[in-house]
Amino acid sequence: MATADAQSIAEELMEWFSHEGRDLPWRRPPRTPYRVLVSELMLQQTRADVVARRFEAFVDRYPDFAALAQATLDDVLRAWEGLGYYRRAQALWRTARVVAARGELPVEREELLRLPGIGPYSASAVRSFAFSLPDPALDANLRRVALRVMGERADPARAQAQKAAHGLLSEVLKAGPPADLSDALMDLGALVCTSRGPRCEICPIARWCAGRESGEPEAFGRPAAKGARRELRIVALRVESELGLLWRPRPSKGLLAGLWEPPHLLAPEQPGEGEIDRLLATWGVRGARDTGERWPMSHVFTHQAWIGEVRRIEAESLPPSAPARWLNRHALAEVALPSAFRAVLSKGW
Ligand code: SF4
Repeated sequence: MATADAQSIAEELMEWFSHEGRDLPWRRPPRTPYRVLVSELMLQQTRADVVARRFEAFVDRYPDFAALAQATLDDVLRAWEGLGYYRRAQALWRTARVVAARGELPVEREELLRLPGIGPYSASAVRSFAFSLPDPALDANLRRVALRVMGERADPARAQAQKAAHGLLSEVLKAGPPADLSDALMDLGALVCTSRGPRCEICPIARWCAGRESGEPEAFGRPAAKGARRELRIVALRVESELGLLWRPRPSKGLLAGLWEPPHLLAPEQPGEGEIDRLLATWGVRGARDTGERWPMSHVFTHQAWIGEVRRIEAESLPPSAPARWLNRHALAEVALPSAFRAVLSKGW
C-alpha cells in the first residue's frame, strides 16, 4: 500500500473513532502496561461485555504488578471467577511476580514473549496499547478488516494471511498514534466490518477496500469451518459428611488448572454404578450412602460440553485421600471454585 493511502486511511479512522469509538473501561486513563496486560488476558477468551463488568473490580483490588505479586494464587483465582479459562489468571499472577522483581514490564517483543501467558498477540497488544508502538495486535477484528481491504481470500488463521494483514496494518499504525488507531480498527471490525453483513455504506475506509469493490466483502477474512464441539457425560458427586463437602484442588496444568473440583466422572458415555463406587474408593470415602437425590448440571467450554447430573451422597466423617479435603461453608468461600461445578452447591450449603 502506498504511504499516502496508509496516511489517508489513518486520518479517516481517527475521525470516525472520535465520534463512534466505544468507551471501554480498559481504555480510560491511566492506560498503564499493567492495565493493558490485565485487559488483554481477560479479553483473550471472554466477551468484551463480560470483561467490562469485571475489569474495574480486579484492578481496584490489584492496582499494579506489585499488588498482584503479593497476593496468593488462590485469592487471584477467586477474583478471576466468572471470567473462565483460569490458566490466564495463573499466568498473569506469575508474570506479576517476575515483573515486580525486575521493576517494569519490558518493551522488547522477545523479552515479553518470555513471560508466562504472553504470546505473540498479547506482546503486540502491550506494545501497541501500552507503549504506542506500530506493532498491530492481530485479533479476529483486525485480521478481518485487513484481509477485506486487501481482497485476500486466504483463511485468516494461515501464516500467509497473517503476514499480509500485519504488513498492511503496520503501515497504517505508523501513520498516526498506534494505540488509538488500534482501538479504531478494533471498533471498526466490531461495529461496521462485522463478520456477517459488513456495513460498507457507512465505512470510513470504503474508498480503499478491495473487498467492497468486489461486491462480496463477506467472502474475505472468513475463517475455515471448525470441527464440532465434543459432548461428554458427567456425573458429579456432592459427598457430604458432618465435616463438610468433599473437594480437592485440580492439577496446576490443563483445563481449570489449580481450581477445586468435587468427585466426578467424565466420559463419552454415561458411567456405570461400578465406576461410581470405584471413584468413591479412590477419594478415600467410607460409609457412602446414595440418598437418591439428583439434579441436572451442564457446562459449555469452547471445545467441549459437559452434560449430566449431580448426585447427593452421605459419608462418614473420616479423613479422605490426600489432597481431598472436607470443606465447611467457611472453607468453601476461601477456595476458587470453577463455575463448571457450581451446580454441586446449588441445593444450598
Ligand atoms: S468497506 Fe466494507 S468490507 Fe471494506 S473494510 Fe469497510 S466494512 Fe469492511
